[in-house]
Amino acid sequence: MAHSIAIDGPAGAGKSTIAKKAAAKLGFTYVDTGAMFRAMAVYFIDNGIAPDDVQAIAKACDGITIEIEYIDGQQQIILNGENITGRLRNEETGNMASSIAVYPAVRNKLLELQRKIAFSKDVIMDGRDIGTCVLPDATCKIYLTASVATRAARRYRELVEKNIPADMEAIAKDIEDRDYRDMHRETAPLKQADDAVLIDSSDMDIEQVTDAIIAVYEAALKR
Ligand code: C5P
Repeated sequence: MAHSIAIDGPAGAGKSTIAKKAAAKLGFTYVDTGAMFRAMAVYFIDNGIAPDDVQAIAKACDGITIEIEYIDGQQQIILNGENITGRLRNEETGNMASSIAVYPAVRNKLLELQRKIAFSKDVIMDGRDIGTCVLPDATCKIYLTASVATRAARRYRELVEKNIPADMEAIAKDIEDRDYRDMHRETAPLKQADDAVLIDSSDMDIEQVTDAIIAVYEAALKR
C-alpha cells in the first residue's frame, strides 16, 4: 500500500514550495493538483468558453485529456497531447481555475486521475480537497495556512523578483476573493479535514514548515 501525505490550504500558503521540499526529503512524488485545474482553465480560455457557461464546460470536459509526466522530477501537465506546463502560472489562469473548480463535471474528471496516481506510488499531494475528498485515507493530512497579509506579501515579492509590476492591495483582494470562492462552493469546498493537523506558516520559514510536516508524517507511521 502506497503512502500519501495530503496537504490542503488556501492560495499562497506555501503548499507547493513546502510539498516539493518534503517530497525530495522523503523520496515521494509531488503531485500538484492545482496545476490540473489550471490546465482545464487553459483549455476553456483557449476555446473561448466563459467561466459561467456551465453547459459548455460540462460538454467540453468529455473532450479533454490531462496526463501527468515527470521530467527531472518536475511535474509536467500534458493537455490533449501538448505540454502546457509553462502556461499555468499566471493570474488569468489561476482565476479561471478557481471559477471552474466549482463544477462537479470538472472535479470528477480530475478526481479519478488524482486517485490513480496516489494508488501506485508514495505521494505528497496538495490542493483544496485532498484530505477531505480525494484521499480520505491518506497516511497523514495537513491543513497549511497563513494570514492574508503574509500570503499577499509573499506573492508580491515573487512578482517583484520576476520584474512583474505588482500592487499589494490588488493581490490581497485577489487572494480574499479566491479564498471565498474556494471555501464557499458546494462541491468539495476548501476546509480543514477533521483529522488534519493545522500548520499556520505566517511566522515560520520554509525549513521549519517542511520539518513540521515530516514530523507529522513520521508520527502517523508510528500510530
Ligand atoms: O493551487 P492553485 O492556485 O494552483 O489552484 C488553482 C485553483 O484550482 C484554486 O484556486 C482552486 O479553486 C482550484 N483547486 C481546487 N482543488 C484542488 C486544487 C486546486 O479546487 N485540489
